[in-house]
Amino acid sequence: MIDLKGKCALITGSGRGIGKEIAMTLAKAGANIGVVDLDIATAQETADEIAKLGVKTIALKANVASEEDVTTMVKDFVAEMGTIDILVNNAGITKDGLIMRMKEADWDLVLDVNLKSAFLCSKAVCRTMLKQESGRIINIASISGVIGLPGQANYSASKAGMIGMTKALAKEFATKSVTVNAVAPGFIRTAMTDKLSAEVVKGYEDAIPMSRMGNPDDIANAVLFLSSDLASYVTGQVIGVNGGLAM
Ligand code: NAP
Repeated sequence: MIDLKGKCALITGSGRGIGKEIAMTLAKAGANIGVVDLDIATAQETADEIAKLGVKTIALKANVASEEDVTTMVKDFVAEMGTIDILVNNAGITKDGLIMRMKEADWDLVLDVNLKSAFLCSKAVCRTMLKQESGRIINIASISGVIGLPGQANYSASKAGMIGMTKALAKEFATKSVTVNAVAPGFIRTAMTDKLSAEVVKGYEDAIPMSRMGNPDDIANAVLFLSSDLASYVTGQVIGVNGGLAM
């Protein structure tokens, strides 16, 4: 049984989807939780559910692509919780399209929300983690950043960038016992994949060795492990959670 009692975890994009499942899972293990979402009502709803588990929680509104918002978000979280032990960079979006038709604005937005956000959030928390000589940064990347997917030049680039940054920061922080790892989900049932046509989903299910899409708790369980003492010697790694789609 993994025990995160008293640990303080900030999870971006955790009002719904995979982020919400990560927040609930870490809370069930005893962690105090910061729920971050673009929409404060969604964040508050999730925070209210988490509060019922008997841990401390705070709902925070932030656009994680904005340095100003990220600075305020981390300041408010630490003021409420006292410190930060775990950061999960989960917020992410897609703006898919073939490169011939991809607008510069869609490239910039996806890179900002998926990659720049992880830079801003990691920068904002690292001083505290390095000072206390312990911490966990977990980046939610994607299989798309590992194998590349057509129609996702922006998204694949953002997630591959996240994987590169994971390894760079793992090396920067290793001597201070701050670990940095990535989880690369395959196809997981959330609002993000609900956008896909039945035909596309069937195509992926046929290609996945386990013949099914994953669920948010498959990702949350990998994050739970990486957040825990069980993973204290694991850093700079990318854990694929994809039913065998990429090996
Ligand atoms: P989702 O259901 O669309 O949820 C995304 C969450 O991120 C929402 O809570 C959303 O807030 C939040 N968000 C979006 N932009 C934000 C911003 N600028 N600032 C703060 N929060 C923001 O997506 P998901 O499927 O759970 O995906 C979670 C992560 O897993 C993403 O990084 C995604 O790339 C990655 N992933 C997902 C899959 C999959 O199959 N689902 C596969 C590989 C990787 P609002 O509610 O306000 O919109």
